[in-house]
Amino acid sequence: MHFFGYRGSNFYAEGVPVQKIIKECGTPVYIYSSKTLKRHYEAYGAAFAKVPHLICYSIKANSNIAVLKTFANEGSGFDIVSGGELFRALKAGAEPKKIVFSGVGKRDDEIEFALKKGILMFNVESPEELAAINRIARRLRKKAAIAIRVNPDVDPKTHPYISTGLKKNKFGIETAQALKEYINAKNNLRNLTPIGVDCHIGSQITKIEPFIDALAKTRELLKTLRSEGIDIQYLDMGGGLGITYDTEAPPHPSKYGEAVIDGTRGLGVTLIFEPGRSMVGNAGILATKVLYTKKGSEKNFIIVDAAMNDLARPSLYGSYHAIKAVKESHGEEITADVVGPICESGDFLAKDRILPSVKSGDCLAVMSAGAYGFSMSSNYNARPRAAEVMVDGREFHVVRERESLADLIRGERLVPEGRRRRK
Ligand SMILES: *Cc1c(COP(=O)(O)O)cnc(C)c1O
Repeated sequence: MHFFGYRGSNFYAEGVPVQKIIKECGTPVYIYSSKTLKRHYEAYGAAFAKVPHLICYSIKANSNIAVLKTFANEGSGFDIVSGGELFRALKAGAEPKKIVFSGVGKRDDEIEFALKKGILMFNVESPEELAAINRIARRLRKKAAIAIRVNPDVDPKTHPYISTGLKKNKFGIETAQALKEYINAKNNLRNLTPIGVDCHIGSQITKIEPFIDALAKTRELLKTLRSEGIDIQYLDMGGGLGITYDTEAPPHPSKYGEAVIDGTRGLGVTLIFEPGRSMVGNAGILATKVLYTKKGSEKNFIIVDAAMNDLARPSLYGSYHAIKAVKESHGEEITADVVGPICESGDFLAKDRILPSVKSGDCLAVMSAGAYGFSMSSNYNARPRAAEVMVDGREFHVVRERESLADLIRGERLVPEGRRRRK
């Protein structure tokens, strides 16, 4: 559920006409609904109200500090995958004791930063990483709480680029080896305290079964670890619950909750969840303006001012995003590709889409753009990145200014003329 929709013929974000935001902020612009963000957090909270749990919003889905602050105010924890995300979380007022650190390639400086801030735990993905965290913790005279991310070899039946829990994926440690690593950590790595088991099998998962299959495997490991005298207190189920972009019908968090609570009954653990997409995906849209329309003999094109640098998902995964006219018209329709100005044929937002026959200057709303939208954006083709706006009831606030041309070259320098090496 979200708070975007038509009132009469005008498209609204909560109580604000999208056209009004466009008039003040220009296009392309990301627009987030704070009510939707809060509702999604509450849906998870309600789903797990009966059991000890911690929701750690996965920052990489949308890392704007105003989004993070909205969740922090609700009591959310955070799942980070870099020192940069830790910095953002702390700027937004996150409690370090509610932060988990995931990712296959944590650098020494990032591990040190997280240890000094006192995060809840590291989700460790390799034996060498265990050794690195132990070494850094020893130097800092600290104990690092860890979970091992197990790779349960479960097929989440999602896009191959976003499935992570198969043996062929780079993520986690296979279950049998994970057991050995826990025992090694307990016996030999004095500055580590194993407190959790972690598992994240992929993204945009629209069925409950893969989660339950993964849970069955991690539950066995957890029991074995306890019998080895390793005091596991946390079971981190990762994120990955899908959303409706088109016709998908993913389980509601309450259904997911029922299944997980059922599968963990009697374990006596605090459950951790790392939802990203399902928290922010449908809480954001990307508004864009039509620059030109072009009719070809085979295809019609609607050329807009948002491109793959703003929203990479269609180019990257062939993803579907619904597109709506900001001013609804009940006139003619056309079938067209919605494309951006970037010099790549892969630069499209929609293909062969039936749309109202818009003209230059009309605006479109690309739906479900709150997750992996702005956070994956780039400056490709020297395009300043879009502004971001947070709507709250009838008010809205710019939570990230549109980049300027000066921003494009920030930090760049010319080579000093005199020092050029002679050949
Ligand atoms: C990306 C990621 C998530 C969030 O996934 P969603 O599909 O957006 O819910 C959670 N945990 C880890 C380790 C991730 O890499």
